[in-house]
Amino acid sequence: MGAWGFLLRMVMGKITSVKCPNCRKETPWEGNPNRPFCSERCRLIDLGAWANEEYRIAGEKKPAEEDEESDD
Ligand SMILES: [Zn+2]
Repeated sequence: MGAWGFLLRMVMGKITSVKCPNCRKETPWEGNPNRPFCSERCRLIDLGAWANEEYRIAGEKKPAEEDEESDD
């Protein structure tokens, strides 16, 4: 399930409302500029959490040192 089940339902035209991935509040799909989130706040919180996670994962790896072709 997850995003793909969600997309599938959307493509099949059966989505009229979604649950906000952040706060789980039922929120309308049509005419919702922040979909699938209920509000801009939830959208930004989720994006922030995702960016944080990416940053954390990236931070655990040591940067590749073989990538030093130019030196601006
Ligand atoms: Zn929300």
